[in-house]
Amino acid sequence: MLDIYKDFGISQEVCDFGSKMIKNLEERFKEIDEVAEYNQLKVLKAMQKHKVAAECFNTSTGYGYDDVGRDTLEKVYASVFETEDALVRPQITCGTHALALALMSNLRPGDELLSPVGKPYDTLEEVIGIRPSNGSLAEYGITYSQVDLLEDGSFDFDGIAKAINERTKLVTIQRSKGYANRPTLSVEQIGELISFIKNIKPDIICMVDNCYGEFVEKIEPTQVGADMCVGSLIKNPGGGLAPIGGYIVGTKACVENAAHRLTSPGLGKEVGASLGIMQSFYQGFFLAPTVVAGALKGAIFAANVFENLGFLCIPNSTEPRYDIIQAVSFLKPEGLIAFCEGIQAAAPVDSYVSPEPWDMPGYDSQVIMAAGAFVQGSSIELSADGPLREPYTAFFQGGLTWNHAKLGILKGLQKLVDARLVNISQLC
Ligand SMILES: *Cc1c(COP(=O)(O)O)cnc(C)c1O
Repeated sequence: MLDIYKDFGISQEVCDFGSKMIKNLEERFKEIDEVAEYNQLKVLKAMQKHKVAAECFNTSTGYGYDDVGRDTLEKVYASVFETEDALVRPQITCGTHALALALMSNLRPGDELLSPVGKPYDTLEEVIGIRPSNGSLAEYGITYSQVDLLEDGSFDFDGIAKAINERTKLVTIQRSKGYANRPTLSVEQIGELISFIKNIKPDIICMVDNCYGEFVEKIEPTQVGADMCVGSLIKNPGGGLAPIGGYIVGTKACVENAAHRLTSPGLGKEVGASLGIMQSFYQGFFLAPTVVAGALKGAIFAANVFENLGFLCIPNSTEPRYDIIQAVSFLKPEGLIAFCEGIQAAAPVDSYVSPEPWDMPGYDSQVIMAAGAFVQGSSIELSADGPLREPYTAFFQGGLTWNHAKLGILKGLQKLVDARLVNISQLC
């Protein structure tokens, strides 16, 4: 085993340090496998219930009328998320698009959008119009208000109660911390927040940005009162196989609004050819629970490795997990860059290139991204990225298999060791 790690340029010292960390994680890995087992059966049950058959993998072109595969997949998603309806489409190009679609279709001029969990994900700033942008909600006369989390990461219930007014139509709750240094929310916490909000104003639509959260727990936010859950298929629910796509699951009314916006008023869910990619959607969804488990193991392993080396890790090495993201603050740009180089060097695709910071559309500072993915930009595959700003935090996520995630983390550590940014010799 050491020999093959050596072929990847990983020293015995780094290997030994990794092994020492893994020894302490057996119990946690067992818990993760148990959640995966439960979710695997949940997906399987939905597929059997809706009689998924070989014909579901057939292609449709043109208008895509009566696409059985597309319509059945949406029923499978609705069952897994326990919602009335679902929209799962390759025409939804990414997570931001899915979220923008859910917001723009369910809000009307004069309405107000509220985020009770602080600043939303960077790309949503332009969707909402926090940063002015062509076609934003702000341009359509939809206002936005925000209540930050309290210092300790808990909800500011007083502030939220004050922020809700007669125009508040939709509340957006981001489950994952994304690029922020705040805790990720558990499904249970999201449920408490939704109950609080619905108690004040029952007709508010509660939407959850579910990106990176799917299958991390045994329940999803739609099972604790969310009217809508939204996410990307090149993250958790695509299982690494979906080459594109996004989903919106929720009440009939919410999904219908979204469908009529995605296609056209009057057409809704009836059109949208699947162009031969349905099998990857089904198979990816089927694999997603175990893929997510591998990614979670990688995240926890990374927290244990880097916390022991003195870096701030969010979540820390022992906290429970509610998404697959691991943030590690390297404090220096060289540390962030070295770690990302390691992740890139461990990839199955493009392992020979070196990632460079760049001005990525939708982000307000330079971003470095390491991803050697089969699907471009897929972050359920092993990837690390981070904005080039203090405290130089790498957001690490994914890994289609635990073994690959482990290699990437060891390679990232090796790059830090080689650059003399850490010294592990006294720790082994
Ligand atoms: C990834 C992500 C998005 C945006 O998804 P893209 O596919 O990158 O457009 C939105 N919110 C959260 C929390 C995310 O993690």
